[in-house]
Amino acid sequence: MVIDLHVHSNMSDGTDTPAELARAAALGGVDVIGLCDHDTMAGVPQATRAGAACGVAVLGGVEASTALGGVTVHLLGYGCDPADAALSAALARVRSAREQRVPLMVDALQRAGLPITVEDVRATAARGATLGRPHVADALVAIRAVADRREAFDVWLDQGKPGYVGHYRIPLDRGIALIHEAGGVAVLAHPWGHGTRGVLTGGIIASLARDAGLDGIEAFHNDHDAAARRELTAIAEANELLVTGSSDYHGLGKTGHPLGCNTTSEWVYDAILALISMRRTP
Ligand code: AMP
Ligand code: ZN
Ligand code: FE
Ligand code: FE
Repeated sequence: MVIDLHVHSNMSDGTDTPAELARAAALGGVDVIGLCDHDTMAGVPQATRAGAACGVAVLGGVEASTALGGVTVHLLGYGCDPADAALSAALARVRSAREQRVPLMVDALQRAGLPITVEDVRATAARGATLGRPHVADALVAIRAVADRREAFDVWLDQGKPGYVGHYRIPLDRGIALIHEAGGVAVLAHPWGHGTRGVLTGGIIASLARDAGLDGIEAFHNDHDAAARRELTAIAEANELLVTGSSDYHGLGKTGHPLGCNTTSEWVYDAILALISMRRTP
């Protein structure tokens, strides 16, 4: 079984619709996808329906924007009840902060001399999508200010560049608790990707496992080289954490992350499903 537990649709910053994502998985020989859009579970019903029609199982998830020590940490939540009020409210607060920062980013880019508008950004996002810097990047490509998303981040949108604006994130330990209270399983996404290695040390991961009940870490991810994967796997073993893997596929939005390029073992997938069914049983 090919199990890819972290992919994005156009309900956040991926480019495939949730249904297209399920069909792309079927074509690519992927049996299970975990749909983990940024701060929303809106795409899960459509992906699940399309997956059922083409033989792909969809594990509903979310990639929550959380913070630890001022640093953004992406936290995957699998199998959460989409109707859970506290988790829904926390995610809605993040999405609203993400909406509010778009005009601030546009202002900053205009001050830097770029003729970009809020409408240009909205035009790149599907209706109901969680807005992110990648949409601003796509707008910069559309107005021909840059060649691609990568250049947009390198020149304008990375932290410290003229167009960077932060947004509200859920405190990490609160995020783990919210996922658990919604019946879900909490896994740190790419713990040593984008600048989080310094904050998510082995000691911190151990304390998250012990004190916050973290369930797993995503060791197999393109942000991690072979040595990081080995070290993270050892940290997981020492703390009885599950080890997952994923492509973090974004469609055309991120090159070098094809569906199924990293995978999760069948026994870990089964363990995640077992935890969800225990936690979701009232
Ligand atoms: P945001 O959550 O709105 O701050 O945007 C961060 C998201 O942008 C990440 O989750 C990635 O999906 C994407 N991203 C970050 N850096 C880059 C980059 N250099 N090129 C393309 N996409 C990126
Ligand atoms: Zn993304
Ligand atoms: Fe991420
Ligand atoms: Fe992601």
